[in-house]
Amino acid sequence: MSKSQAKDPKLSFKPEDVASHLLEAGVAEISAAAALLADGKGSDRETVRALSEASRGIELILKGLVAQVHWTQVFAEPSSASLSDLEAGDFASASTQHCLERLKAMVGLSVGDADRKKLTSIREKRNLYEHFGKLDNIQAVRGSVGAALSSLMQLLAAADENSFLSVGLDGMLAQLTFELSEFDRFATARMNEIGAALDGREVFWCPRCSQRAAVIDDGGHCHFCVTRTPGEAFARHYVEAVLGVSRHDVVKDGAFWPQFSCPGCGEESLVQREGAEPFICFNCGESWAVRALEPCAYGCGKMMRADDGGTCSDCLAFRMSRDD
Ligand SMILES: [Zn+2]
Ligand SMILES: [Zn+2]
Ligand SMILES: [Zn+2]
Repeated sequence: MSKSQAKDPKLSFKPEDVASHLLEAGVAEISAAAALLADGKGSDRETVRALSEASRGIELILKGLVAQVHWTQVFAEPSSASLSDLEAGDFASASTQHCLERLKAMVGLSVGDADRKKLTSIREKRNLYEHFGKLDNIQAVRGSVGAALSSLMQLLAAADENSFLSVGLDGMLAQLTFELSEFDRFATARMNEIGAALDGREVFWCPRCSQRAAVIDDGGHCHFCVTRTPGEAFARHYVEAVLGVSRHDVVKDGAFWPQFSCPGCGEESLVQREGAEPFICFNCGESWAVRALEPCAYGCGKMMRADDGGTCSDCLAFRMSRDD
């Protein structure tokens, strides 16, 4: 019998109850975050607390889901899991990313790239605050927590449909649905306020609040959370969240990363996507048809206007300096 299957008569809990404890704790954290975001004055302290609670809540719920398969899955390394470590709380636990991968591999529950990004963004925001003191405004935090909660609910609804949620968890779903409806109410009211400003413009997902309310205007300009994102970061977010390419895919599988320097403004914010004018710059907003641009003939990876003669000015200068 392996260590992880050994029966320990001195345990203070039943391993089969781990999942429901995690799920209950997660829902309690999310309710606390939602209450702070709804009723708080939006002070930095409240915003940070809400971010931490929402981030913990999401992690706990995802761990609760993998624990429904087996309690060892809440460990970063399930093969070295032990009940005594679990009881002592002394172990490296599975990350959000681990949990999402395991749910897909073990029970076929998967989330799309955009939803995965929304779920992981809350922890990233909390880390940005802890490491660099960077804190989004309350609108951005409300928007992104609401969006993450909506992605979480979709995952839970799919789990429920596949009869993967234990009986007796419908109270948890009802509580989360209620919290989400509060966020939705807020988001709908906010969208109505800003609707006129977005009318007739191409609107993108905002990296800060995860709402579809950002336009290109010297980089990203979100009308929902009233923040600006530099063109390069705005373009990177589009590549990851909308085109579904990750840095990980590029390093591991050699995937193509469709972000270049813009021939119009020179920023690293040009993205290649589908459509009639697939090249679009997330900084200056200019767009080009597919044949209007081509990579620099010298192979540096820069995109050039096709009628500009093939080699970029940097490569041209480099070649001339070598020819001297
Ligand atoms: Zn925003
Ligand atoms: Zn540009
Ligand atoms: Zn070049």
